[in-house]
Amino acid sequence: MQKREKIYEGKAKIVYATDKPGLIIQYFKDDATAFNALKRGTIVGKGVVNNRMSGVLFTLLGKKRVPTHFLETLSDREMLCRRLDIIKIETIARNVVAGSLAKRTGLEEGTPIREPVLELYYKSDALGDPMINDEHVRMLKLATPEELRWIRRMALRINGVLRPYFRRKGLLLVDFKLEFGRHAGRLWLGDEISPDTCRLWDVKTGERLDKDRFRRDLGGVEEAYQEVFRRVVGRAGAEGEASGSGKRASVSEPGRAGAEGEASGSGKRASVSEPGRAGAEGEASGSGRRDLTP
Ligand code: 5GP
Repeated sequence: MQKREKIYEGKAKIVYATDKPGLIIQYFKDDATAFNALKRGTIVGKGVVNNRMSGVLFTLLGKKRVPTHFLETLSDREMLCRRLDIIKIETIARNVVAGSLAKRTGLEEGTPIREPVLELYYKSDALGDPMINDEHVRMLKLATPEELRWIRRMALRINGVLRPYFRRKGLLLVDFKLEFGRHAGRLWLGDEISPDTCRLWDVKTGERLDKDRFRRDLGGVEEAYQEVFRRVVGRAGAEGEASGSGKRASVSEPGRAGAEGEASGSGKRASVSEPGRAGAEGEASGSGRRDLTP
């Protein structure tokens, strides 16, 4: 497999062509942005975490009848994928109130949701990813009604797989964003599944272990990504990386800071609630603006 020219560079990833027209390489960067790129920074090792974690989760989903664009993890920061024509809809699935849903409804962050809630957003940087409904999707010709039905069904299936999976790792899957695309006459799940695109709270402490630490200046950002890596990718990822050196999993680059370090400590907020359990005294829901990173 030969890596060819850069096709696209987004805020968190670079997409390269390959010598096979239907295949691309996703390269995961450490760059982080939030609030439509008004806030910018670097999360050391994030690209490694997001690449390896997405590989693990896409593999899991593939076994559970979710077609994904993922083919193979090539390196710490690169994965081989099917080339998708991305549908300009961001699908959000929610299990617990947080972020823009708290802002929109006035419900406290941490409030459990009995049935998962799905939301659609128009993937448009220029417009700031506004929320849309099925009729807007039809009007804008973003997807056919049949495609949209499939997207909703898949989003619920993905939630049904990921939520208990994360639960076993001591993580509450609060909400997450999905992107789908067309390839070879059918739809596939694309993009990534990572702490950039999911809210993940520690089940015991309610500590936020995702990009909200960056968005909300909670500190311990790298440590949170490391912790998720450790729980989700664990030794499998570590072995790929340390290749027999006996070294423990570390997502930071050699010679760069951020791998070790104590648990993130500060910034601990909302206590965790599963449906049927007590709600949480969450912090303010941040600015409530949509984070628009790809
Ligand atoms: P909210 O609408 O509450 O801001 O976000 C809901 C969920 O979708 C969160 O898990 C958040 O990380 C994810 N999400 C929503 N929009 C984006 C986006 O543009 N980029 C990324 N990386 N994640 C998003």
